[in-house]
Amino acid sequence: MLTSLSDAKVSLDDQDLAQPCPKNAIARLRVLATTDLHMNMASFDYYTDRADPTVGLTRTASLIRQARAEADHANITTLLLDNGDTLQGTPLGEFAQPDDGQPHVMVQALDLLKYDAVGLGNHDFNFGLPALDTALAHLKCPAVNSNVHRLDNQKSWVPYTILKRNVTADGQDWPLSIGVFSVLPPQAMDWDAHLLRGKVEIDDILSAAQQAISTLKAQGCHLVIALAHTGLQETTATPNLENAAIPLAALKGLDAIIAGHTHLLLPSPAHAGLKHVDASTGMVHGKPTVMPGSAGSHLGLIDLALIADGQGGWEIDSATTELRPIFERTDTGQPFPLVPEDAELTQLITPFHTTTRKNMQRPVGASTHPFHSYFTYFAPDRGLTQVAVAQAAALRAYISGTSYADLPLLSASAPSKFGGRAGPEHYTNVPAGPILLRHVADLHVFPNELHGLIVTGAQLRDWLEMAAGLFHQIHPKTEGAPLINPDVPGHNFDVIFGIEYQIDPSHPARFDLKGDLVDPSYHRIRNLSYKGQPVNDSQEFVVAVNNYRANGGGHFKALTTARPVPVPSRLIQHIVRDYLMGRLPHDPIADLPFPWHFTPQNQTRTTVHTSPSAALFLDEVQYMAPIALEQDDEGFVRYSLML
Ligand SMILES: [Zn+2]
Repeated sequence: MLTSLSDAKVSLDDQDLAQPCPKNAIARLRVLATTDLHMNMASFDYYTDRADPTVGLTRTASLIRQARAEADHANITTLLLDNGDTLQGTPLGEFAQPDDGQPHVMVQALDLLKYDAVGLGNHDFNFGLPALDTALAHLKCPAVNSNVHRLDNQKSWVPYTILKRNVTADGQDWPLSIGVFSVLPPQAMDWDAHLLRGKVEIDDILSAAQQAISTLKAQGCHLVIALAHTGLQETTATPNLENAAIPLAALKGLDAIIAGHTHLLLPSPAHAGLKHVDASTGMVHGKPTVMPGSAGSHLGLIDLALIADGQGGWEIDSATTELRPIFERTDTGQPFPLVPEDAELTQLITPFHTTTRKNMQRPVGASTHPFHSYFTYFAPDRGLTQVAVAQAAALRAYISGTSYADLPLLSASAPSKFGGRAGPEHYTNVPAGPILLRHVADLHVFPNELHGLIVTGAQLRDWLEMAAGLFHQIHPKTEGAPLINPDVPGHNFDVIFGIEYQIDPSHPARFDLKGDLVDPSYHRIRNLSYKGQPVNDSQEFVVAVNNYRANGGGHFKALTTARPVPVPSRLIQHIVRDYLMGRLPHDPIADLPFPWHFTPQNQTRTTVHTSPSAALFLDEVQYMAPIALEQDDEGFVRYSLML
């Protein structure tokens, strides 16, 4: 009788919904993910003005459509998520800043591809909060970040979101609530201090994640997914980790992770040997995790089989992860595409793409010699000189007439395209002849601003020692040891112009990767001098430098106590352009020799790798007696060099 009474109160449909899915029934959910797209929308390199099959959301979009079609065919629900560092990167990002009320082209693309949620990365803050707010205003899906807190009342992103979807099991649809939160490195506060200080606060990744998970669980989420704009590095939880994905995975209540920030791949051997990480299955502390490269190079997939508990709850029964690449390489290292560019997305971006190409072809100057970064780690790099000279000219103008004007002026620059994870095409290469705007962006890729620092001779020396940590220790009279430590990002190899010094790689590095002193007796910097005189510890200099380094980026601890010089906020790219156009006076640093070379070693050869295109410039390093060795799997050519 009771049954019939309750039957009378609810309609048949409502009753069906109220009944839980039978125990042990299996439902499937497919999570698709991109990360670190960095405005790589077209499969195109604006610096060389050529097609580039290794990048481009237009190709990833084809993988997304394929993966969705497979899932639809098998009655599997899909989600599409992005993990941040989306709005900054290629020159398209510079020319796509909307000023006419139109949605940002990347936001239009995310909407077109029907993303379900988008996390924020540190680089999404590079153009400042107003630009980010404008871009996100048009985004149809939630923009999520859980550890950057606004101090004003703007709310262009949410701390977490709950996606309510249906999954199929036992021949019927059942409701599933998926909680999504997002975190990014708290170091972003320092990297973009000039844009963020006093405007936001950034919490520790792990404590913010813990809080988000508790909230999402309390709100009845069946599953919790982290959009973790952070890499896999540290294996234990300590406060303020930049790369916290491993301890993050250990948090109870978290079910799956999209990692990023370091632009690496997971699953892939790139993460082999890390504690708690199965690099071949993508399990971190047993939780399915993907890191889909960067620039759209890969689509990440997490396929979950969910088992019903008979009371409306679901648990993960099994999980698999996969990365699908947009390209492969031939035996000779040539990349070729595996999927076509998506026609609809290509059509959407074409006007922006065309405008960017046209703008990038504007001439700004001329050069009698080429600029390239193929040998940037071991031989003079004229591109670094060009950037440093322009920075010096701008800073000299800003400080003229101030109390800083009497100090010796130096300028620091570091390579911004150096192969590495981005592949053997990712080098600066500007031919002799007219310098176009795209070449300026090729010389300095990042949207960094110019800063000035007052440093002592002692700080200067430790700055250079930290940069010299790029090199492995090379023992004299040996042959074949690799010169470069791949764990040091190339953009931390600062070269300081206006002084002269030598680097001695036969000694161990003075600082470790975190910037901690290894041993006070370790020194690699030799014969540091200014105008022919040895630099003493208390001597003061004013140094032109980018905001990333001035704010302590790259663990250069000597700089945390350096005094800033007030300068107006200007992009280094614009300063380089203005110098080439003759809008800034010729700077005396342009007339100095390249500041450093290796201390000569006795019968010692080392190996380096660079682009196959470097072969055209080998005459520049004849004094190192280069011998070409074999090409590696990623398409880099190895050379043996005499030190
Ligand atoms: Zn990134």
